Amino acid sequence: MSTQRKMGAEVVIIGGGIVGCAGAYYLARRGVKVVLVEKSVVGNEASGRNGGGVRQQCRDRRERPLAMASVKLWQGLQAELDFDVEYLQAGNIRMATNEKRMQDLEREGAEELQDGLAVEIWDRDELRRRAPYLSDVFVGAKYCATDGTANPLLAPRAFGWAAKRLGVTLLTHTRAVDICAQNGHVTHVVAQDNAGEIMIEAPIVVNAAGPWAPQVGPSLGIKLPIEPERTVVAVTQRLPRLFDTFVSSHDLGVYSRQAREGQVHVGGVGTLTRTFDQSTPVDALEYLARGAAQMIPALRGINFLRTWGGTLEMTPDKVPVLGRVPGIEGYVVAAGFSGHGFCLGPIAGKLISEMIVEGEPSLPLHEFRLERFAEKGIRG
Ligand SMILES: Cc1cc2nc3c(=O)[nH]c(=O)nc-3n(C[C@H](O)[C@H](O)[C@H](O)COP(=O)(O)OP(=O)(O)OC[C@H]3O[C@@H](n4cnc5c(N)ncnc54)[C@H](O)[C@@H]3O)c2cc1C
Repeated sequence: MSTQRKMGAEVVIIGGGIVGCAGAYYLARRGVKVVLVEKSVVGNEASGRNGGGVRQQCRDRRERPLAMASVKLWQGLQAELDFDVEYLQAGNIRMATNEKRMQDLEREGAEELQDGLAVEIWDRDELRRRAPYLSDVFVGAKYCATDGTANPLLAPRAFGWAAKRLGVTLLTHTRAVDICAQNGHVTHVVAQDNAGEIMIEAPIVVNAAGPWAPQVGPSLGIKLPIEPERTVVAVTQRLPRLFDTFVSSHDLGVYSRQAREGQVHVGGVGTLTRTFDQSTPVDALEYLARGAAQMIPALRGINFLRTWGGTLEMTPDKVPVLGRVPGIEGYVVAAGFSGHGFCLGPIAGKLISEMIVEGEPSLPLHEFRLERFAEKGIRG
């Protein structure tokens, strides 16, 4: 017969993706006693399956300050976490196959420059000169030199391990089944592992459960407008060095990076909304191989070794929910990064820790409040 075990913490974090692990790390650095609950293992979902792009350009304007601050953190992560997460600041090129797309990139570039993000607009000749490995299907591009890439298999885990070294209790293979509150205050999390139920008492709970965030804490009755969406990545065998920069084309529907060890990752297919199904469509390899070859001719005849699906966490306006939930003291949501939260993970974790410990985060989170959906009449 299983018995209920009891634990206590100052903060419980639900979800061991990059956001939850970074939150645990920055809270522990501030001396907070944290329990992190993860239903499988750390970095097993989108945080460990993504394209590895650490990108500031081509974002919603509201997110830009966060992305820029996060890149500053990425630059120091190896030293900070005492682990090489294969961060490489080799730039990001967003290409256009037509003049209309080029005009969109130019407009966006002007706004980015206004906001202090250095980007360059390249015409066809400049693109040929700077990225000769790309095909001549492109009429131009926007380039951000301070963007980069990192290894998704390593970064969330590096945060998790560093958090553990600082005393965070990592409960893996443990599912949070409910969040309980009394008189409008969070009191505890009910979790379940193989041995039975665990009651984790804490005055503050952070829901960092990615696309599963709406399912967490049913007793609270809070609706989070976050929908799952599947997308697919494929990886080649090791290839000779072709390129360092993250490259993408909306027109072709693909993006790519070459990992430090030489494998080329190609992503961008298999988008399926409102599903947690992570199977890869039968034609995914063909689609990705075709797109990759159109983008980078040296990848013609490419041999993919494997492909995998990952689950995005889409909000209606494609920016996250980040902050306290009004009406329930101690309940914080950090989810809904809408397919671009790998870059934002470190800053999201840091801002949560500042909000909890210092009361105010060092960057304003007003644009990411949950209430914005109700204010705009969007139902969860
Ligand atoms: C294929 C793909 C490519 C992408 N490419 C990029 C990219 O190039 N650049 C970029 O910035 N972003 C990219 N993203 C998006 C990015 O990966 C996510 O936005 C980010 O990882 C979200 O992190 P998270 O910690 O919020 O969520 P997740 O990584 O989804 O973590 C949530 C965690 O919560 C756990 N969990 C859920 N429910 C419970 C529960 N009840 N109890 C306990 N634990 C629970 C899950 O197991 C999971 O580990 C991509 C995503 C995918 C899938």
